[in-house]
Amino acid sequence: MNIHVLKFGGTSMNDHHTWKKVLEIISKYEYPVVIVSATARTTRQLIEAAQIAAKGDLDKALVIGESIKLRHLGILHRFLKDNPHPKRPLIEESCEHKLDQKIALLFKLLTYTHKAAELTPAMSDAIASIGEQISSYLLAQCGLAVNQLTQFIDAKKIIKTDSEYGKANPNLALINQKSGSIETILDSGFTPIIGGFYGEAPDGTTTTLGFEGSDYSASLIGGALHAKAIEIWTDVSGVYTSDPRFIEDAKPIPELSYYDATEMAYFGAKVLHPSTLKPAQERNIPVFVKNMFEPEEPGTKIIRDSDHSRKVLAMSFKKEMVLLTVSAYETVMGYSFLTKVFAALEKFRLPVDAVNTTEASVTIALSNSEKLNQLSKELVEVGTVTFEEQKGLISLIGCTISNLDELSSQVFNALDSQDVDMITFTKEKRILSFVVDEEQLIQSAQKIHSGIF
Ligand code: ADP
Ligand code: ASP
Ligand code: MG
Repeated sequence: MNIHVLKFGGTSMNDHHTWKKVLEIISKYEYPVVIVSATARTTRQLIEAAQIAAKGDLDKALVIGESIKLRHLGILHRFLKDNPHPKRPLIEESCEHKLDQKIALLFKLLTYTHKAAELTPAMSDAIASIGEQISSYLLAQCGLAVNQLTQFIDAKKIIKTDSEYGKANPNLALINQKSGSIETILDSGFTPIIGGFYGEAPDGTTTTLGFEGSDYSASLIGGALHAKAIEIWTDVSGVYTSDPRFIEDAKPIPELSYYDATEMAYFGAKVLHPSTLKPAQERNIPVFVKNMFEPEEPGTKIIRDSDHSRKVLAMSFKKEMVLLTVSAYETVMGYSFLTKVFAALEKFRLPVDAVNTTEASVTIALSNSEKLNQLSKELVEVGTVTFEEQKGLISLIGCTISNLDELSSQVFNALDSQDVDMITFTKEKRILSFVVDEEQLIQSAQKIHSGIF
């Protein structure tokens, strides 16, 4: 079967015009399997409502819930008005019923959260996933209104995970097994439409794969189905040399390896969720990043072997970084000191972006997080701890070692007299990273990009 897994993100799901475009794009494929995000802003609003409810203002949280309902009703009604169909009353009724059900569920969860005065990770996932539960159902119904045989599948039936709420780990064996039902639907001539981002824990509760997790859902399903290709349809024409929203002269990269694309995603290229390429790589499935508003543009193709001969491939940057320095108390031996520091990071599941060490001290760049307080308490057992906040990390990805001298001097020229807090380079990873003040981050990134690319 010539299966293409197509994923459409929040901006693609923004309004009735973009829904129509999504349906047009999928109609061109023989066996499309469609993964959709929540409509633009919905996930963020759901989480905001949950936090507000936990903090005590249930009324305000419910108002946000009501506005989510109205926005979806608006998209639905405008879509059905623009695309008249004899079955409109039936479609409308089924969508409104589903929407009422999901909003009632949201209100119930918000009320529970309000009473408990705390937002547990499990509750947060149950609430955050409602956006995708709604968007996937409504889009599948709208497909029927334009005579496409679209069929909703609840992602909980396919994306089986562990119980690590907020960043659940997929159970690949179960996902492979459950994906058989998708093929059955394709066989009967229908196009499955599945919400991204969420899945189901062994006890039946809802989990999520982390922010931007719909990309990951798409590649998990693409991997399970041995798809011909996985296509990430978004609002830019591929993976760029840097974030085009901030770096005016950034350009699309025609081809990337899984490895380089993963590094880019991990170091802040938001266009892909960092785990996206793993399932594709395991089955050697090409991943395309395409622009839904310029579908004829080639976009980026991500494959196993794509060797580039450029001196550097891309630049990414991350805000809200913290520099953590731990200096050992004299009594601690060097190797056990580092082991203890990294054990603490593991305990709180805090990923590290860059590290510099001496035998008796270590400086680590990592994303700011609420867990840093707890981490700090743990680390004072090992040494003195200092945090420097409001830092930014700029990373040059895919640097060739022979050009390192030239690259470093280009960076320092661009940064002029600005302070650099830390520099790291690893030959194996081919990444040159440096930490600067967050205030200067975008300006520095722009200067470095125009100097190098
Ligand atoms: P979607 O809603 O489709 O998932 P996202 O907002 O998650 O879309 O990702 C697309 C956005 O990623 C782009 O609008 C762009 O601003 C941002 N982005 C960041 N880094 C890059 C990059 N290197 N290449 C392309 N886009 C990038
Ligand atoms: N809607 C989710 C988010 O905003 C997942 C996604 O869009 O990929 O993070
Ligand atoms: Mg995204």
